[in-house]
Order: sequence, then structure tokens, then C-alpha cells
Amino acid sequence: MSTQVSRLAPSPTGALHLGNARTFLINWAIARNNGWTLCMRMEDLDGPRVKQDAIEDCLQTLLWLGLDWDGDPLVQSRELGPYLDAMKHLCRSGKVYPCDLSRSDIASVASAPQEGAHETPFPASLRPQTAGSSITFNPGGENFRFMVQPGSIRVDDHVQGSSNHDVHELPGDFVVWTRRHAPAYQLAVVIDDARQGVSQVVRGDDLLPSAARQTLLYEALGLKTPEWWHVPLVLGEDGHRLAKRHGDTRLSSYRALGIPCERIIGLLAHWCGLTSEPEEMTIEEFRDGFDIESLPGNPVSMRREDEQWLRSG
Ligand code: GLU
Repeated sequence: MSTQVSRLAPSPTGALHLGNARTFLINWAIARNNGWTLCMRMEDLDGPRVKQDAIEDCLQTLLWLGLDWDGDPLVQSRELGPYLDAMKHLCRSGKVYPCDLSRSDIASVASAPQEGAHETPFPASLRPQTAGSSITFNPGGENFRFMVQPGSIRVDDHVQGSSNHDVHELPGDFVVWTRRHAPAYQLAVVIDDARQGVSQVVRGDDLLPSAARQTLLYEALGLKTPEWWHVPLVLGEDGHRLAKRHGDTRLSSYRALGIPCERIIGLLAHWCGLTSEPEEMTIEEFRDGFDIESLPGNPVSMRREDEQWLRSG
């Protein structure tokens, strides 16, 4: 029987909040209960450049919560070679093309973005006539886009069931290499999951549409697509995903206030359907009690009482 591999992939650019913690804890519990290997990856190419301290803080916060992982963390920015190799492959096979159109050039021909979609679709009419021919990869201050063919992409997900995505329509040809001389998120995640041997991707369901885009890249690169587990997010009381405006729910802040990690785990356990009310819990108790079948199918809302309960510890 082959061993399954999963990964925790925090972006050290944004401070970890309770929503991130819940997704990581679920990922960790599934991995530990099923004997999977669990890797750690620092997604430090996704956003502005971060200092080594931010990476260290992120790891320390996750260790404080009680999470562990197998092997050393992979830090994306340490080695661009694997992404460059993938780009050479995609260029040679005529799957990508350079594009220096700005966001406003694109917006002027694109239809209005759909509600809830924060990205501008890239209409196929803007694709250069030469797109599709084999080229030599020459990264020099331009974006490179992946050519998306018409048709729908099916994503089979262990949590969400099956869904179909029209990637050609939205977002259209998406960026895989940025003018900042770095891979875009979509390419980096595929290359890293492949080189870390990841077979099971557990993450927030805001990334479900990305699974369809990543499926196209796996196919174009001749790599095996992993299995998907997209778990519902934690929302604020206003129904929007948990963010700064909902108050300070950063793990590092709770830690600095001296709130025991068992209290955090207790609240996350309640949000995962383990208990009817929050109660302090160790991470081992969480692992033993966790059942993906009991995970609420809808997003969880963080209520004012939840925050009060945390802070009363
Ligand atoms: N680094 C991303 C995040 O923190 C996760 C990306 C992924 O799991 O594919 O949201």
C-alpha cells in the first residue's frame, strides 16, 4: 500500500488567524488519523517579500498550537530551479505565452466581474496570434499566461462533492509566471505539491476554483493530479470570511495574551462539530475525536461569544 502525503502550506506574509488554524488542524488530524505523511511548506513567493523572522514566527506559532509535521519545511524562495524547469517545459510545448498587458488593458475589454469574483477575466480575444507556438523561456519583465482551451473541468472533492468549472470563461488564460521574476501561485503550488509527493490536498474552500486551474497545469506538465479536500471557511458575523476587520483573531495575539492553546483547540473543535459548546481540549483529544463526517457542511461563523469565551481563559 502506498503512503499518502499531505501538506500544510501557510503564507508567512499574512498572520495566521483562527480560520487558518482550523483548516490546518483538520488537515493535521486527517493525516495523523490515517497514517499519512504531512509536509510543511512556506509559501513565501505568494505576495510581498518576507523576512526570515516571519517564517520562523509562523512555524513557532504552529508548534505552539501543538501541530507537528514530517521532515524539514520547504521554503519556496530558496530555489527557483524547479519552477524555471516547469516554465521551460510549458514554453517548449507551446502551452504558455508572454503577455505585457496591464490590468486596465484587460479590464477595458473584459465583461464585468461576477459578484464575489475578485478577478478580472482574461478574454481569449486578447491572446496574441502567435500564442500556441513553441518558444524559448526568456523571463524578462513580462507575465506569462497559460492558454486555457474551452470546455469544463471537473473537480471531484472529498468534502464538496463534484463540481464543474469553466476556466476558459473565468479567469481565462491565467498568469503562471510574473514579471517580478517569480512563479505565480497557481504554478508554484503545482510544482511544489508534485516535488513533495503530495497526493492529498486539504485546504480552505475559497481555493476550490483554483483546483480546476491546477488540474490543467498538472495535465500540461504530465503530472498526477492529487485528491482534493476543500473545507468550509470560518466567517465573521457579517458573513464574510474572517479577516482583520473582524478584530484581532491572530494566534500570535492570543498566545501573547497568555491564552492556553487548549482553549483555541477547544473552540476549533466546537467549530468542527466535536462538541456542542466550546470546552478546553488537548490536540490529542481533538485528533481522537475528529471525524470528517461530522464537519459542518456550511461555513462556520465566529460569534462574539466565541471571542469572549476565548479571552476568559
Ligand atoms: N498558502 C495558501 C494560503 O495560506 C494555501 C495554498 C494552498 O493550500 O494551495 O492560503
